[in-house]
Amino acid sequence: MMRQYMETKKEYPDCILFYRLGDFYEMFFDDALTASKELEITLTGKNCGLEERAPMCGVPYHAVDGYLNRLVSKGYKVAICEQMEDPATAKGLVKRDVVRIVTPGTNLDTQALDESRNQYIMCIVYIADRYGLSVADVTTGDYFVSEIDDSEKLFDEIYRYMPSELICNEAFYMSGMDLDLLKEKLGITIYTLDAWYFDDEICARTLKDHFHVGALEGLGLADYDCGVIAAGALLKYLLETQKQDLSHITGLTVYASGKYMLLDSSTRRNLELCETLREKQKRGSLLWVLDKTKTAMGARTLRKYIEQPLIRKKDIEERLDAVAELKDQAISREEIREYLSSVYDLERLMCKITYQSANPRDLIAFERSLSMLPHIRCILQDMSSTLLKELYQELDPLEDLCALIQKAIVDDPPIAMKEGGIIKDGYHEEVDRLRTAKSKGKEWLARLEEQEREKTGIKNLRIRYNKVFGYYLEVTNSFKNLVPDYYTRKQTLANAERYIIPELKELEDTILGAEDKLYALEYELYSEVRDAIAAEVLRIQKTAKAVAQIDAFASLALTAERNQYVRPKINEKGTIDIRDGRHPVVEKMIPSEMFIANDTYLDDKKNRISVITGPNMAGKSTYMRQTALIVLMAQIGSFVPASSANIGLVDRIFTRVGASDDLASGQSTFMVEMTEVANILRNATSKSLLILDEIGRGTSTFDGLSIAWAVIEHISNSKLLGAKTLFATHYHELTELEGKISNVNNYCIAVKEKGDDIIFLRKIVKGGADKSYGIQVARLAGVPESVTSRAKEIVEELVQADITTRIKDIAVQGGEKPKIKAKHYDEVDLAQMSLFDTVKDDDVIQEIEDLDLANLTPIDALNTLYQLQNKL
Ligand code: ADP
Repeated sequence: MMRQYMETKKEYPDCILFYRLGDFYEMFFDDALTASKELEITLTGKNCGLEERAPMCGVPYHAVDGYLNRLVSKGYKVAICEQMEDPATAKGLVKRDVVRIVTPGTNLDTQALDESRNQYIMCIVYIADRYGLSVADVTTGDYFVSEIDDSEKLFDEIYRYMPSELICNEAFYMSGMDLDLLKEKLGITIYTLDAWYFDDEICARTLKDHFHVGALEGLGLADYDCGVIAAGALLKYLLETQKQDLSHITGLTVYASGKYMLLDSSTRRNLELCETLREKQKRGSLLWVLDKTKTAMGARTLRKYIEQPLIRKKDIEERLDAVAELKDQAISREEIREYLSSVYDLERLMCKITYQSANPRDLIAFERSLSMLPHIRCILQDMSSTLLKELYQELDPLEDLCALIQKAIVDDPPIAMKEGGIIKDGYHEEVDRLRTAKSKGKEWLARLEEQEREKTGIKNLRIRYNKVFGYYLEVTNSFKNLVPDYYTRKQTLANAERYIIPELKELEDTILGAEDKLYALEYELYSEVRDAIAAEVLRIQKTAKAVAQIDAFASLALTAERNQYVRPKINEKGTIDIRDGRHPVVEKMIPSEMFIANDTYLDDKKNRISVITGPNMAGKSTYMRQTALIVLMAQIGSFVPASSANIGLVDRIFTRVGASDDLASGQSTFMVEMTEVANILRNATSKSLLILDEIGRGTSTFDGLSIAWAVIEHISNSKLLGAKTLFATHYHELTELEGKISNVNNYCIAVKEKGDDIIFLRKIVKGGADKSYGIQVARLAGVPESVTSRAKEIVEELVQADITTRIKDIAVQGGEKPKIKAKHYDEVDLAQMSLFDTVKDDDVIQEIEDLDLANLTPIDALNTLYQLQNKL
């Protein structure tokens, strides 16, 4: 057995081998050491013909899923080696074989899968400065291929799909990409595969064989040399790990970048599209607001919409038409949603059916889902928008399959496939006959029992059954003397004896024979039904995709209605005109009447850049994000939170906001900020929308202001960039740019002063803020009064020194143009000036410096403070 183990293991050196031994999967040697540690199970040993015992550990077969999930989620691959024959009947060593390799990107266990998102495995090949990319979800049969020519876009694609596993060629691994960062951020496993996986001939053949096509042109891959290799290598890998023909992967979608809006990873995170920045949860994200889908397929589709907004007017208008129609036809829509709520995850059920792992209850769930389709289709029939009409055509009611299951499978079947009770009466003659034999047998047994009781006078004589002896007659010791001669004793217990008689034996043969035959036949018929469904995979997948889209559109229509969204107009002129826009998520988090709506107006002419000032907490970032989200929502085909919106299509949205969580990766806040700015300035186009929050904050005031200034100049210049931009800043000096650069405009978020306090009005108005109200905000935040009033004093001193004018002047001199006439200011030597210069009494300073804080009690501290104060 150990030899067989070693031979099998040799073929799967990079996997942990689960070797089936009776009721356990055993692991040996290094596998055992790893698994016992990772799974916290006991390590034992086994004699294996070597000097030392082999380390060994095992997991029971009935609980294998949990253990598998734990190993796979930690990035291990597990090869499952099963017994291929029945140990009871096998001659010699039981034959064993690896039946499947479970990897992080191909785990099929429903408990481990998040039904609302796809589980992708991605393959990247790097060949001659180009990246070929393919992505598949084995649980749904999705399969995409593309090619990309620069590494940043590739990163964006990886973040878009968020694969659980990435396989690649050696060249990619060595290409200098920061794969550790990727592993850490996405928690994914990255494997390089042997070179032969990427052989172009093998790849092409694998694809042609699988899709039964003569030429790759048929798959739309003619111009995708790297794509073919990525797709072929991935398919090969899947075929080898799944050990299935993967018939549910029925086609591949080739896409060129250019169909979708590009969103980089930090923008996805900053805009909190599918999860929040801090807690990484769905609640509080855009998806959370928009997702009212009823099916898992719909939820995945809506997530995809959000993750890849469209950029073609026609595509967007078509979606908007569909959403508008479902919004207007509220009754029909709710009816559809009602039917959808009984539809299971057809894509993943289909995967189980093709893997032959679907149990009878899965088929019933499938049938219940299918039975909803004709109703949904019937409602769609009356719809007039292009997409809904198309979906009506694509939605196959699959009545034949539904009828087949209804006819063949009982309504409430067991989970087990080989213990009968699955096939409906009347479906198959032989099943009916065997069933009668089986149930008649029970009657016969009862009659025989009665007859023997009368014959022998043993009142408590019983016919019983167990697996070892089959049927027997049981007589308790008190009646032992009444047992007749023709009873043959089989077994003696403490208080009873067990017998058989020829008549009983005959009955047993009939009954058990019937049962065995019945179970085998039921399993066979069940498999036939399942395979008949598997054969229709194309029709089912197409229908599942249609259902998913209908669900996503209905969800968008419902949120539009409930949240008072409007249909955006889409233009290609580049004007973004939003009236009374609201932040879709923030308005949900606070009482609805509390949210203050604001307008946004940006265009390619005089209104390219808005410089937004206002104190902290005024609502600057909320306003900027709301604009970005409204544009993004419009481009996924959703209605938007505003009283009216005219959206000029954007090709990319970039955001640069506050200090992000990259601190952990060891870069300074400023470095992270500048890297992101660099990325934006290099990759944005005049059709992009930029959201820049507090650029330059991470360095000294002069540097920061100068950088911010220069960035605005660069963006505003249509020869250099010319992107539409919202730019929030606390450098009031930047408001000077309005009027100097023709397409820059100032806005601020209004606040009202009330004594020493401020009230946030949350309204965006034309013009620059003249004060920063930092001290008032500090007070609102609960900074002690002693500190805020001291700060106020210092501000007054600084203002006296006219320091602000001085800073402004230096900043202007730093940049060549535009020249701003500096205000008159008194000569102050800034370098010499420190805050404590304003404190006149040197004695006080000395006293503070001399304080032994470590040994000061709180009371002493207060007293000292009191004395110090008196001295001033
Ligand atoms: P800033 O970026 O100016 O520091 P934020 O955008 O973070 O301010 O806003 C601070 C808080 O103010 C938000 O958490 C939100 O609750 C509230 N807020 C912002 N904008 C609005 C608005 N238009 N209506 C109501 N509350 C708002």
